[in-house]
Amino acid sequence: MHLKIYNTESRNKEEVLPLDGKTIHMYTCGPTIYNYAHIGNFRTYVAEDLLRRSLKLLGYQIVQAMNITDIDDKTIKAAIAQKVSLHEYTRPYEEAFFEDLHFLNIEPVEYYPRATEYIEEMILIIQKLLELKIAYQGVDKSIYFSIAKFPSYGRLSHLCLDQLEAGISNRMSEDEYEKENIADFALWKAYDPEKEQGIYWDSPFGPGRPGWHIECSAMAMKLLGSSIDIHAGGVDNMFPHHENEIAQSEAFSCSHFVKYWVHIEHLLIDHKKMSKSLGNFYTLRDLIAKGYEGRHIRYLLLQTHYRIQLNFTFRALEAARASLQRIDDFIIRLKTLTKDLEIDSTTDVLKAAEEMFYLHLADDLNISAALAALFELIRQVNTLCDEKRVSLNEAKRIFTFLQKIDTVLGCIFVEEESIPEELQEALRLRQHARREKNWKLADSYRDKIQTRGYCIEDSPQGPRLKKMRTIKKKKP
Ligand code: AMP
Ligand code: ZN
Repeated sequence: MHLKIYNTESRNKEEVLPLDGKTIHMYTCGPTIYNYAHIGNFRTYVAEDLLRRSLKLLGYQIVQAMNITDIDDKTIKAAIAQKVSLHEYTRPYEEAFFEDLHFLNIEPVEYYPRATEYIEEMILIIQKLLELKIAYQGVDKSIYFSIAKFPSYGRLSHLCLDQLEAGISNRMSEDEYEKENIADFALWKAYDPEKEQGIYWDSPFGPGRPGWHIECSAMAMKLLGSSIDIHAGGVDNMFPHHENEIAQSEAFSCSHFVKYWVHIEHLLIDHKKMSKSLGNFYTLRDLIAKGYEGRHIRYLLLQTHYRIQLNFTFRALEAARASLQRIDDFIIRLKTLTKDLEIDSTTDVLKAAEEMFYLHLADDLNISAALAALFELIRQVNTLCDEKRVSLNEAKRIFTFLQKIDTVLGCIFVEEESIPEELQEALRLRQHARREKNWKLADSYRDKIQTRGYCIEDSPQGPRLKKMRTIKKKKP
């Protein structure tokens, strides 16, 4: 089945067909590793993971790159303030980022290029743009891209040049006057010894460092080719970042840079964008400390369509936890069926759920409708179970369906945990002590369980043990 995706550039849903007829080449803008990412950032990464996994489930092959921005104003400033090298400063945050991806069960992609390892490629692009006179050196020695030389500039964000210039002039800082045109953007930022204290790269046009936009163009083209299928990012990346990526990549390669542009709407908090600069954010670590698991957070971020803003609340996070509990209880019910009946009462129900799930997913990743199909299946099969009309074989088929859709959802089946027998025994003894109303003894068993990293969770089958997940704290 083909996926239809909303392309920001054409403003239409389009059927995804790989440029080379075989493999989807996808590029997603990654984090700037100057601090921990917040759950707003992870809304975008989870949506991109849903896109990747859905493509695979629908039968596509995929090669994906997500960049790691390990050089920009913020990383340089922080490294200087802490008197460490850029590398020493950024590396713990890079490690934390990968831990967070793992925690949210975001599937690893094929390439995670670091910007500092592709400076040579960036320099080559800038050199060619200078030769073509599409780029120029400003009075401050930085190199700028002249947007007047790229007639279709603005075609992604659907803005015309006048609007762009008016918008930009309101936000101008002093050094914008170094450029010929206020809307031109930096490809290479000339070294400022006072501000950057020894952090620079040599280039034919003087010492300095790349601008942020050129990083993505260079890495995308080097790893995936000059024409790629899908490029994704948060909506705030659309302008100017992605607009600039198009301009510099196409001016350099003379090829159409991206076939489908996908933009993910923001995670809000109190109806404002969650962001570092507003200070209104939660990191994954904050939510883990409050007792939530990666799958609860993943489900919350996943369940709303990626083109609709999502307002974060703890009530919504609780509701996500409850939805997963409902699925867990259903699975336990399926697993505890023992009778092999001759009847076949769920075939139609399962077939309808399968069809609807795939159909909705293939329609611009309509995950809310796909999940509704799953919960309708659960409701109907639960009723059939109450009537003792579900056979062991049928349960197995439903289970296989759940496993299959979890290759996309990634939050139904967490890896099986082998719980030490002595803790299972402690749980049994605790239950016994509670029945005897010996609360002190019961609490001592609970403490024993908790100090070993497990918690007691209620389920329809009675209390059970679950591993508590924690993430190592990194020193900022
Ligand atoms: P940054 O580190 O700010 O460059 O952001 C990394 C990625 O997260 C980009 O694709 C952003 O568009 C995205 N992003 C940042 N804030 C939010 C938010 N509140 N909701 C969704 N995505 C976001
Ligand atoms: Zn980017």
